[in-house]
Amino acid sequence: MFLNNFEYFAPQTPEEALTLLDRFGDKAKVLAGGTDLFLLMKDKLLQPEYMIDINQITGFKGISYEPGQGATIGAATKIVEVERDAIIREKYYVLHQAASELGSVQVRTMATIGGNSCNASPAAETPTPLVALGAKVVLHSLSGKREMPLAEFILGNRKTALKPGELLACFILPEPLPRSAGRYAYIGLREAMEIDAVNMAVYIVLEDDSRTVKDLRLIMGSVAPRPLFSREVSALLTGKEPNPALIEKAAEAASGEASPISDIRGSAEYRHEMVKVLARRLLQETYTAAKEA
Ligand SMILES: Cc1cc2nc3c(=O)[nH]c(=O)nc-3n(C[C@H](O)[C@H](O)[C@H](O)COP(=O)(O)OP(=O)(O)OC[C@H]3O[C@@H](n4cnc5c(N)ncnc54)[C@H](O)[C@@H]3O)c2cc1C
Repeated sequence: MFLNNFEYFAPQTPEEALTLLDRFGDKAKVLAGGTDLFLLMKDKLLQPEYMIDINQITGFKGISYEPGQGATIGAATKIVEVERDAIIREKYYVLHQAASELGSVQVRTMATIGGNSCNASPAAETPTPLVALGAKVVLHSLSGKREMPLAEFILGNRKTALKPGELLACFILPEPLPRSAGRYAYIGLREAMEIDAVNMAVYIVLEDDSRTVKDLRLIMGSVAPRPLFSREVSALLTGKEPNPALIEKAAEAASGEASPISDIRGSAEYRHEMVKVLARRLLQETYTAAKEA
């Protein structure tokens, strides 16, 4: 259960951190909250010689919002800050919901939003709503910056598009459109700090009539190696006024698209059923919220 010895660095700027990362290469690990990293180190699955702590880099921390432009969330922002931020709650409620479901208050106080995506667990809480919101990530390296949708950043179970020498700097969330709403929910096997058996986020934008669906994204977590966008649900509901029969059809479609595995948290069959339960619930809830927005 002990960590290996490592040399610790706490750079103050992105440039310092990137220079260290460049110098030490794969002998170094980036430390954010450590809530995933230290577990791997305690199990001796990782034994980095150098630790680059990004918590002192002010440019990687905090939440800002510009009306009409959207929000930026630094990668080293703690989950608890995301959960408690008034703008996130008001404008990006689906992310607020997911942040408040992650682990315990102790875990949320340590864990960062960037770490949650970089760790790329298929069951992770915040990538699902972030993908539903159309979030982009900004990656820094010594040779510059690049931007991509989070949906393309997470490549699979514990795999991301991060290249050697790159750091995730921040997430960019687009301004929510008028007559839009997002909702998140998960199903786990007990009311404790369990890992999600299935999680889901739905984002809906309505036409001017406040009834017809203009755009809809249903994203599923923990039922595929990475957040899964349901094309069929979008195709079924876009241009329509959802009713119970249509929602039932959409829930069946989402379940058909999911490709869960069986593991300690639930069988594949159970997960297929839970996708239907969450899809039914969230499509209705999100549609109602968008009509009232
Ligand atoms: C008891 C417990 C309960 C938990 N419950 C949940 C839960 O309910 N839902 C959930 O989703 N997760 C849960 N987790 C997992 C974990 O807390 C989250 O994944 C968390 O967001 C990870 O963030 P971190 O800052 O601690 O990452 P770290 O452990 O510091 O880092 C994780 C990985 O990402 C890399 N990394 C971090 N930040 C960056 C960056 N900016 N640029 C490049 N690489 C980076 C690190 O090098 C490391 O490889 C739980 C963990 C524990 C211990």
